[in-house]
Order: sequence, then structure tokens, then C-alpha cells
Amino acid sequence: MKKFQSYINGTWIDSSTGEIIVVDNPATEEIVGEVACASNEDVDLAVEAAKKSFLKRDLVDMHPMERSKLMRSIAIELRNISKEAGKLLCYENGKLLSGAEYEFQDAANYFDYYGGLTDKLEGSTIPVSKGVVDYTILEPYGVSAHIIPWNYPISMIGRSLACSIATGNSTVIKTPELAPLAATSYFAEALEKAGIPKGTVNIICGYGEKTGSYLVSHPDVNHIAFTGSVETGKKILHAAADKAIPAVVELGGKSAGIVYPDADLDKVVNSAKTAIFGVAGQICSAMSRLVVHKSVKDELVDKLVNLTKSLKVGAGYEKGVDCTPVISKNQLEKVEGYARSGIQAGAEAVAGGKKIEGKGYFFESTVLDGVKQDMTVAREEIFGPVLSIIEYEDSDEAIQIANDTDYGLAAGVFTKNIDQATEASNKLEAGQIYVNSWFTGSIATPFGGYKQSGYSREKGQQALKSYLQVKNVGIQL
Ligand code: NAD
Repeated sequence: MKKFQSYINGTWIDSSTGEIIVVDNPATEEIVGEVACASNEDVDLAVEAAKKSFLKRDLVDMHPMERSKLMRSIAIELRNISKEAGKLLCYENGKLLSGAEYEFQDAANYFDYYGGLTDKLEGSTIPVSKGVVDYTILEPYGVSAHIIPWNYPISMIGRSLACSIATGNSTVIKTPELAPLAATSYFAEALEKAGIPKGTVNIICGYGEKTGSYLVSHPDVNHIAFTGSVETGKKILHAAADKAIPAVVELGGKSAGIVYPDADLDKVVNSAKTAIFGVAGQICSAMSRLVVHKSVKDELVDKLVNLTKSLKVGAGYEKGVDCTPVISKNQLEKVEGYARSGIQAGAEAVAGGKKIEGKGYFFESTVLDGVKQDMTVAREEIFGPVLSIIEYEDSDEAIQIANDTDYGLAAGVFTKNIDQATEASNKLEAGQIYVNSWFTGSIATPFGGYKQSGYSREKGQQALKSYLQVKNVGIQL
């Protein structure tokens, strides 16, 4: 069994209490490894190291071109380990091996992208009264605490950490207790090999309610970047409010795609394959609802059922597999409960609907037809491979159904009519709109939620603003 430690102040340490977190393989339920579970004392050490590094101005005084070189070196190290570390991520998280390896490349892309912006963080000069020179400087906050979810742990660290380093913040990362191994070990090793100054980045693991909440409430933490559920996001916002510090919160979703009568239905089916059945539907911006015009609903449902029949289920490291397990037994039971509640409320499981018996946390790729907007399956984030089909008759009704949710992370439009597409895009209440293909964005496009899906933005140049504060300087000449 592989054993991993916390990475604090450039050294590897066990938990001060000796506590560990044991991680299993969602495909087999076998133990993959264990990681140190950080105690409050360990969190104190990590925050102290980050604070010291910040006060020494390790990153702030590093020439922007040097910071850029450091970030590009981190990118190279992450790419170098993507095969080996991707394997560990695949075993602990359950996702496809290709997807796990890609996470390291994705994280590397963030370091390249933001590494190219370190020397472009420009302030401005402001005309004030005669004889006064007034200008702004963009400055980091200090110690930034990053709380990471288990569905894309490596990509999510890349997303927030690259911004944190580019802007000169020091960082303490708490990896997710359900898939912490590759993030706590390989990511830290890549940072170290690239020459990150000691204490600038510290990576620990622990349970959310204990280690996570202690970290975000720590008096020396000046900024929080959180990605996770709405429920936890609200707790994070309370912790931030108690200390009056900023928090970037990227939360869950219940995203709907509208299928207009002229839509290319094969494009809808292609999107479903990755956007709800890929990664077992454990995607924040999953296409979990399809709002489909009555005239094409039956044809689309047939195609979706055929899709589910063609998908091969198995462990992420097996050849030819499309659908992988959900992360845990709890998650499996939660997904099953949601599917059952939909069926009991009157929806029809035209595909799937139940867990797959045997070892591992596998749930059938599920299509629920006849879903009504007031059913729980249509309102709550399931985070599993369950697609709800909701029928509509006129286009205003489609927009109303799509927007009838507390969430606002993503939405989609399937139509050949560009006027229809732009009108719907204007009216949909979501941070990203996908037209004719789900996930059209990249690391360069701003990403974040409307309504309860969070605020601030990650990705793109926009994200850097969330990691910087503005100082105004006025000089009387
Ligand atoms: P979660 O909210 O249960 O946990 C997320 C992280 O928060 C974990 O590291 C956990 O240990 C920690 N945590 C839990 N309670 C805490 C507390 N009181 N204080 C501090 N930290 C705490 O979410 P999850 O189950 O790990 O991830 C799935 C959720 O994340 C889904 O809702 C999904 O939509 C969302 N998500 C959003 C995005 C996005 O970019 N918007 C990306 C990925 C996942």
C-alpha cells in the first residue's frame, strides 16, 4: 500500500496525531493507499510557512519573468509525471486513465497560460489634481487557502494555484479526502522539482469539517479559493465573512440543455456521452437536464437509449471502457436514491435506473423520461449518470424551465438557427452557455456560476482579478 505525507515548508511530514486517511479504488473497493490527515497543529505549520514566505516576499519580489519561468518549469514537471501520476489518480478516483492523465496536462496548461501573464499585471495612472501623481498597483492578498473537490482534483489545483502563484500569493492547499493521493504527493513533487521556494505552497489533506474548516477560519489566512458543493460553499462564505476576507466560490450545478425542433440530435447525443455519462456524471457543469421540444422528444429519447446500450462499463484502467464508477458507496446510494425518487414521482427510467450489482460503485447510465420540473430529480444536483428529460411546447416555456433552478453554472442550446441560439444565450441565467456542443470552453475562457453556483470567475484572464487587490498611491510632487 502506498503511503503519503503532508508537504509543509518544503518537507514531508506525518500528521502530528498520527492520523491517516485510507483511500479505496471505486472500481474494486480495494485499498489504494493512505495519506496523512492533517491536524490543527499541521494546519498551523502550513499557514505559518506560507505566511513567512509571503512576508519574505519570495514570490512578490521575484522578477515577473522569473516567476513566469518557474511556472513553466512546473508545467514541464506536471507533463513529465502525467503517465505515472495519472495512474494513481485513476485508481483512487475511478475515472478513465486517459482522463486522469489529462488532468496533469490540463494543470500544466494552466501554469503555461498564467505563466505568460505574470508580467502583464498592470496598474494604471489616474489624473487627479495638479502636482499629484496617482497610480494603482495590483497586489496579492497574502496567504490563500485552496479547498479542492475530488472529481477533478489535479485540474482544480492547477486552476487556482496557477493564479495564486502568478499573482504572488502564498498558498495552502487542502486536497479532497476521497481522492487525495496524487494531488498531495505528485503535485507537490512537481512543484519541488521545479524549484518552488520553501513554504510558498503547502499541500495537506484532511476531512472537510475538521481540517478544511480550521484552515479557512485560520486568522492568518487572507483569501480563500473554494470549489465544491453549494452546501459547503455557504459555510466557506460564512467563514470568510467572519474575517471579512474575499472568497472565490465555484459551486455545483443543475444545468439544462434546450433542444429546439431543428436541432441536430446526434450533436445532443454526442454531448450526453461526455457531459452526463462521462466521469459517471460527476461533473459540476454536467448536462443533467434536457428540455426537449415535443416534436423531437421521442426520436431523441430513442437515440439516447441506444447510446446507453453502446457504452461499456468498467474500471477506468480497462481497455475500451466508457463509463466508470462513482467515487464512493455513499455517492452510489445517493445517486440510487435520486433515481428512485424520480421513478416514484412518475418519471420513467427508459435506460438504467439502478446500481450495478457486484464489486465497485457502479451505477447504470440512466435516462429518465417524463420528468417534471417540480420533481426532486429535476431540482437537485445528483452528481451521477442520470439524465432528466423534460418536454416543452413553446420556446418561452423552454427558457423558463431551464432557468427554474437555484443553480446557474452552465446551460446549453441545440439549434441550427443562430438567432434562436443567441436569443436563448441572452436569456439563460448561467455563467457559461454551450451552443450545439457541451464544454466548448477552454482554460482561457472565464468559468463560474450565476445564482447559487457561486461567484467570481476562475479560468481566463478574468480569474487573476480574484487573486489581487488594488492599492492606490498618490504622490504630491
Ligand atoms: P464538498 O463541498 O463536499 O467538498 C469540497 C471540499 O470541501 C473537500 O475538500 C472537502 O473536504 C471540503 N470541505 C467540506 N466541508 C468543509 C468545511 N466545512 N470547511 C472547509 N472545507 C470543507 O464537494 P465534493 O463532494 O468534494 O465535490 C463535488 C461538488 O463540487 C459538486 O457540487 C460539484 O458540482 C462541485 N464542483 C464545482 C466545480 C466548479 O468549478 N464550479 C468544479 C468541480 C466540482
